[in-house]
Amino acid sequence: MVDTRKSPYTKILEYLDKKYNEGIRQIFIETLSQDTSISVDRLLTIIPEFLKDGHLSVRFEIRCPTCNENHGSYNRMSDIPLKNIFCEDCDTSFYTLSQEVIDVSLLVSERLGGAAAKPFFRPLVKPPRFNAPPSPL
Ligand SMILES: [Zn+2]
Repeated sequence: MVDTRKSPYTKILEYLDKKYNEGIRQIFIETLSQDTSISVDRLLTIIPEFLKDGHLSVRFEIRCPTCNENHGSYNRMSDIPLKNIFCEDCDTSFYTLSQEVIDVSLLVSERLGGAAAKPFFRPLVKPPRFNAPPSPL
């Protein structure tokens, strides 16, 4: 049986490239999961490849669990301070490091467009012409 489906990596690359061309630079991991039908768990195993390639960077945002107000953005999980936050918008208090208040999003870098374009717009290479030796007379 031949599997003709696109690899998850290609699916993600095409999706991010499309979003980038639409002017979208920040994509939530849940949105990526829904739109590509790739589970978040699977995404988390593939995304490091993109980070390595410089296509993406990750941002962690602290969101109020009640009203979704942003209470800080961090480039690394380890940069998030452990503290209690009181959201004045909705009178909710919560801890920064509780799982449900951290939103993981992906920032698409400038390099993505060019890198994504390469495999799909490779110039057509003609096979070298074989010069037949002159036929013996
Ligand atoms: Zn709030």
